[in-house]
Amino acid sequence: MTTFCDAHNHLQDKRLELYLPDLMPAMHAAGITKCVVNGTCQEDWPRVIKLAHRYPDLILPSLGLHPWHIATRSRDWVENLKQFLAGETYPVFIGECGLDRSARGSDFEAQKEIFTIHLALASKQDLPLSIHCVRAWGALLEILRTNDIPKRGFLLHSYGGSPELVTELVPLGAYFSFSGPFLINNRPRAREIFQRIPPDRLLAETDAPDMCPPEEYREHQLEGPGDTPLNHPANLPQVIRGMAEILDHEEQPLRSLLLNNFSTFFQVKPRTKKTLRFKKPLDLR
Ligand SMILES: [Zn+2]
Repeated sequence: MTTFCDAHNHLQDKRLELYLPDLMPAMHAAGITKCVVNGTCQEDWPRVIKLAHRYPDLILPSLGLHPWHIATRSRDWVENLKQFLAGETYPVFIGECGLDRSARGSDFEAQKEIFTIHLALASKQDLPLSIHCVRAWGALLEILRTNDIPKRGFLLHSYGGSPELVTELVPLGAYFSFSGPFLINNRPRAREIFQRIPPDRLLAETDAPDMCPPEEYREHQLEGPGDTPLNHPANLPQVIRGMAEILDHEEQPLRSLLLNNFSTFFQVKPRTKKTLRFKKPLDLR
């Protein structure tokens, strides 16, 4: 059976806390053997690390300040982040971090400064870096072109830039991940973007509990606080099925390609389903 690896999700999200005991078995049943869990603010970093300790075979922890949450940072956030990077016996990745001009009330100059710090930390140790970018592509390119970049490259999670920009980003080392919302509307544009990406730079993600795929690609869903359902991390195989349609690619070879790209970029070997061990879910409160 093919296995799957999720390049970007948020299992530490408080909205998922209630569901955690059921999420892990569902992910296992879906064949998901690795996922990168991204912290977005200092408050949730310890939760990400706790989860990674609890599910060391499944979870690759990543820590960062999301541009929406930079105002919550403490003065010593960089020290705090460095402690996590140095204090664990396994690698801790960097992100989610980035730039977002649509984030209301978030100081864009501060976003740039904070993102540049994340980039420097990732470059210094050649760590995987997960980037969020919305309406800030010019500024992102400028920062990437004038600073050191991790040798292995970087991930533009749920890539929302133009097809033309792909050509600028590839030589810098970009990987691009596909997510559920590309299946909702303007599929021709999604096709134009993703067909332009070199196959060895493609990844797939759920971003769970966000970015729910449309109903026909939703094998699982979770009740959210509002009208919109929460995305379930075990929807990944369905997202990849949709990705194969968009790319006009056969599903099985695409799955293998994505697994290869995941292990190249994150430098981990995806385990076969058999070797996975599941312990009791952890109480994160
Ligand atoms: Zn995210």
